[in-house]
Amino acid sequence: MPTTLTPPRPAAAATTVTEPGRLFNAEDFAVAELEPSAIWDRIITVAVREQASDVHLTCQATGVHVAVRVDGRLCPQGVLPTDLGQRLSNHVKVLARLDLGERRRPQDGHAGLELDGRPIDLRISILPTNHGEAVAVRIFDREAGLLELEQLGFTPSQLGEVRNLIESPAGLVLVSGATGAGKTTTLYALLQRLASDDRKIVTVENPVEYDLPKIDQSQVNAKLGLDFATLLRSVLRQDPNVIMIGEVRDAETADAVVRAANSGRLVFATTHAVHSAAAIESLIALGAHPHFVARSFRGAIAQTLVRRLCPYCTVPLAETDDAAVLDDIRRWLGPGERPVLSMGRGCPHCRHTGYRGRTGVFEVLTATEPLRGMISRGAPSRAVYEAAAADGMMTIAQAAKLAALRGLTTIEELMQGVSEIWTGTL
Ligand SMILES: [Zn+2]
Repeated sequence: MPTTLTPPRPAAAATTVTEPGRLFNAEDFAVAELEPSAIWDRIITVAVREQASDVHLTCQATGVHVAVRVDGRLCPQGVLPTDLGQRLSNHVKVLARLDLGERRRPQDGHAGLELDGRPIDLRISILPTNHGEAVAVRIFDREAGLLELEQLGFTPSQLGEVRNLIESPAGLVLVSGATGAGKTTTLYALLQRLASDDRKIVTVENPVEYDLPKIDQSQVNAKLGLDFATLLRSVLRQDPNVIMIGEVRDAETADAVVRAANSGRLVFATTHAVHSAAAIESLIALGAHPHFVARSFRGAIAQTLVRRLCPYCTVPLAETDDAAVLDDIRRWLGPGERPVLSMGRGCPHCRHTGYRGRTGVFEVLTATEPLRGMISRGAPSRAVYEAAAADGMMTIAQAAKLAALRGLTTIEELMQGVSEIWTGTL
């Protein structure tokens, strides 16, 4: 049963904190002589409300360091006295029904809570370190984590291409990007759009992050010997119309994915490739035959996440005439659209960072006959990529610049967080 939290809203504490990234002062909790359970409730409540993805309690020589990850950035929230470390990790272990007596081996578990009337899942990892136990908690908030296709950050023309891709009755659609680039969110949005009573959709995931209605989700389990390849063999016997495979990293999975996509199924697969065309090459490098990859290939989506300017404190700057930014993307600006950069001044809504939430930045490569021909002949991915870009594909670098010129993010964010994208050297 999930626990229901009813701690006081720590809004008063939050408003007194002005250091960028700070949600609360952990020191205040110790000064107030709160019990570990009350401290934990305050930390997790603020973290969930501020849409943090993770909470970290780390025992170091100086005390228990509290940090939260918000919008991909780890933000320190203060240090608690050392003697609270074990009591706090014990409390979290109890929540996750872990072994209190085990302090030498890592442990993993789950806990649930209900906050503001909605269920929150917590994935908990305990790691013994030289100063005590490090507690890492991943927050799964269904309301914040499941988005519609239209909310992800595709440009209108990319959205049209994506809709065409998922309307294919069969074939292969690849989604690529680094870990934490939002691939799962994109795949869940695509699958939710396809979910219907007359379509059997089966997934192989590691792990299943959210339950999706009308979709059969299976989870990799290394302890039981259930890897991607093994589960995929069973999935294919389930008579699916649509398959989603969380990761392709061995020859058997690559081969099975391409076979399924060539036998009347729509297959979504993810890879860690850096750009859309490299995703194709990664399948071929694993041993899939270029001809069969080319025959089934419908398209590829590459993505990353950038911080989004805070809607409460963003101000437009002067119109830019920077040719390095403009020349590349002028053709995608609407008639009369002025290329204006913006900045976030910082306010309580964005923890004085100027950014609130993140948006995806995408590249959508749609397969054409000439591109399929190149893939089939084993052309290098860079050549396929350049041919697609020459044919009008908006590259991820161009999409990122467009997002900055439309006031969604900043050039600084693109340069800091995703410098490869900015320079176009992906
Ligand atoms: Zn703000």
